[in-house]
Amino acid sequence: CGIVGYVGSKQAQDVVVEGLRRLEYRGYDSAGVALAHEGSIASEKRAGKLANLERAIAEHPLPASTTGIGHTRWATHGAPNDVNAHPHLGAEGRLAVVHNGIIENFAQLRTELEAAGHALKSETDTEVAAHLLELEVVAGHDLTDAMQRVCQRLKGAFTLVALDGKDPSRVVAARRNSPLVVGLGEGENFLGSDVAAFIDHTREALELGQDQIVTITADDVQIIGFDGTPAMGKQYHVDWDITA
Ligand code: GLU
Repeated sequence: CGIVGYVGSKQAQDVVVEGLRRLEYRGYDSAGVALAHEGSIASEKRAGKLANLERAIAEHPLPASTTGIGHTRWATHGAPNDVNAHPHLGAEGRLAVVHNGIIENFAQLRTELEAAGHALKSETDTEVAAHLLELEVVAGHDLTDAMQRVCQRLKGAFTLVALDGKDPSRVVAARRNSPLVVGLGEGENFLGSDVAAFIDHTREALELGQDQIVTITADDVQIIGFDGTPAMGKQYHVDWDITA
């Protein structure tokens, strides 16, 4: 129900958890964070309030990283527990995904993955996307291409945000009938369900259209349609204030 992504030079864990805090008003039942770390993913997730996640991170600190994603979940498929909380990882633990919305054809995709030997850990519709994306990056596609290929297979409404541990330079997100905005910083860029996720860092935002994929790096933002056609976002300045 809330999504945050970050690439820059700050500690991603701090930026992401602060962003999730700003999105708390949207309501949620669990929260999690994933960071790119040494070719793989470091992550923590907990059912319940954000404070549960913060406590877990305080007890077992995640490694330093400047690329990360985070999520607050409003469960639709699978009980609100630690296992079903996002992020979800691929089979090799190289790729992490957070997701808002519903992947309607997840059961069929899950059956297909299980037939190919994949063991899925959660009851969510989301986890299939993590496995499918990881298969694509392991096959040699960059994360943007991987997202484009996987989106063509997904039905439903979704915002998906993905992180490849082997490519900490980028975070890639896709949007179909579900909210997603980009925050434009100096030497850093952000993704959020809404601008509250990054308003402490920048007030320059980019609105995406439907069925688009956005790739953020520390100093670039690229948008394409699900069919690969380059697209432009609509840039705007956020001039309202939120109360702390
Ligand atoms: N359908 C996903 C789940 O149940 C995402 C729910 C959400 O939008 O937070 O895990």
